[in-house]
Amino acid sequence: MVGVSAGAKNLEETVRIEGHLTAEQVRRNPYFYLPFNVPNNASGIHVSYGYSDPVTASFGNGPGNVVDIGIFDSRGYDFPQPAGFRGWSGASRPEFFLAPEDATPGYIRGHLFPGEWHIMLGVDRVEPEGVRYDVSVTVEQESGAGNQEPGGTPRSARPEVSKERVGYSTPKTNGARWLKGDLHCHTVHSDGLNSVEEIVRNAVELGLDFLAVTDHNTSTHFEELERLSDLPITLIPSEEVTTYWGHANMWGLREWIDFRCADQASIDGVRRYVLQKGGLISMNHPKSVGPPWFFRGWEGYPSMEVWQAPWRFYNWESLERWDSLLRKGERVVAVGGSDVHSIPPAEPRHPHGLANPTTWVYAESSESSILDAIRAGHVFITDGPNDTRLVLSADADGDRRFESLMGDTISPLDGRLVRFRVEVNGGMDRRLWLIADGVPVDIRSLEKVETTHEFSLDVSGYRYIRAELRGPRGRPERGEVIWAMTNPIWIANSER
Ligand SMILES: [Zn+2]
Ligand SMILES: [Zn+2]
Repeated sequence: MVGVSAGAKNLEETVRIEGHLTAEQVRRNPYFYLPFNVPNNASGIHVSYGYSDPVTASFGNGPGNVVDIGIFDSRGYDFPQPAGFRGWSGASRPEFFLAPEDATPGYIRGHLFPGEWHIMLGVDRVEPEGVRYDVSVTVEQESGAGNQEPGGTPRSARPEVSKERVGYSTPKTNGARWLKGDLHCHTVHSDGLNSVEEIVRNAVELGLDFLAVTDHNTSTHFEELERLSDLPITLIPSEEVTTYWGHANMWGLREWIDFRCADQASIDGVRRYVLQKGGLISMNHPKSVGPPWFFRGWEGYPSMEVWQAPWRFYNWESLERWDSLLRKGERVVAVGGSDVHSIPPAEPRHPHGLANPTTWVYAESSESSILDAIRAGHVFITDGPNDTRLVLSADADGDRRFESLMGDTISPLDGRLVRFRVEVNGGMDRRLWLIADGVPVDIRSLEKVETTHEFSLDVSGYRYIRAELRGPRGRPERGEVIWAMTNPIWIANSER
């Protein structure tokens, strides 16, 4: 259906695209592309859509359909990394617009390349009888000269953000120290309720040294991070690559990362692409309420979000997954992320805020130093950005210097006991667990807030040692939670 209306200045043309997708089609591939034409004098594109039986229960529970939406311009939409990507809003917006100078958050403003564009529908959930969709695309046209330079060259190239690897914050290179931050949060650029500025200012108020804003499947928040780069915090451009089989955080690249992974080969390709480009990637929240990680492959990821949101959000499931990978010798670094979607003044959607949990890294304050520290496993995680600390180190050669940190590998002489040290803050009435290859080898009650606990261990046959700080939270019958956890110290020469 096409409707044309002519105003005094602008023309407007609306195309309505309706259809039905069967559950079987969705099972084969959940992404569908609906073509429409953009004339060479287009000055704005407005899209709205709806679909049958949308899920109404919170967090996508309960029956119904979930259909996400995004858009590609005439430069193409082939997987992976096509030039034509122009934005994605999941199922969080019923409409969006793009124009040369402005766009809905999550969408890339800029030249409206003439030719065949595509609306992309991504079907997250479908009822057995399928789903009907109804998309309206209104293209505004300038009645004047059009939006091309004489000769037909586009007025602007792809407009979004600088792709150079420049630090977003001025590096304060005063040597490595423990820095705290949050590696996972969302803004209005995807399904969060806060502006980037609100989230970043809250992180500064909390005293965080770094923050990764990880909006779903888009990169339009990057330029706002750049705008805020004079604030005293290191802002790491990031994207939560959000597929229907699992979520993966990408940190440190200045480009959009394709998320349309519908099988093992495509997610493997995205992982390799991010790593080759020098970025960092993690498997996120691999637990029943994650959403989980449904891909078969668990190997080759440098990190895993073992702790997402408060501990009681089923993080023990992720911890078990992580331990099982460590036992196989897979050196995947545990990190935390609040995954916050709303903080005041927005209406809170979850009962926790930024930095719950907090990830601590031993680094200088530059982005590259922080990411390198994560790669190295020089990381522990605490419940919040307060004074709680848990630092595990080892003296493998018996010189009384604890020179090996979490993430490092020690090579003790055969038969020699290795001396370990755990520095604890926030230990009062909590218990320190020392864990070797997933099994507790020592549990001791702590009676002071600050403690340094040293112990010797025969590590022969073990692959790794790590520590946890556990203790009650809330009413006694609710049991213990983890208040802090370290990454492991690895032991060489114990391949089994
Ligand atoms: Zn996620
Ligand atoms: Zn998230």
